[in-house]
Amino acid sequence: MPKATAEIETPDRLEHIISKLKEREFRITPQRIAVLKILAESQEHPSAETIYEKVKKDFPTTSLATIYKTVTLAKALGEVMELGFSDGSNRYDGYNPSPHPHLICVQCKKILDPDLKDFQEMTRKIAKDSGFEIVNHRLDFFGVCPECRNIK
Ligand code: ZN
Ligand code: MN
Repeated sequence: MPKATAEIETPDRLEHIISKLKEREFRITPQRIAVLKILAESQEHPSAETIYEKVKKDFPTTSLATIYKTVTLAKALGEVMELGFSDGSNRYDGYNPSPHPHLICVQCKKILDPDLKDFQEMTRKIAKDSGFEIVNHRLDFFGVCPECRNIK
């Protein structure tokens, strides 16, 4: 079995995604592991291009298409959330693939997970008031981050 390089500590998220791929008998290549590791560990919501730039350092023959294939696979397995944007600059969250709100800087495009304690309660209230069973949601806050505001 191909394994990730010895020096890395294998965190639970990565283990979890890899075992899911194994269960479904998908090939586990070192390149795939490299992509999945970035997805599982990044809290910056990387784009496919960002993942590509990182993976390319260890695997120079990697193509952007390979990155997309692995991201799409992880997404199909429910292990990556895709944040789609109308300009096509999609970003990915494999660190936390369950639905949660995002905070987006319109200038530098950084994306954060805001800490919203009331959010579960809000979801419950919407479900209760409407009679809907809530299966997914998307909530994005757009603004200018402190770093970008200081430059201006
Ligand atoms: Zn910013
Ligand atoms: Mn997120």
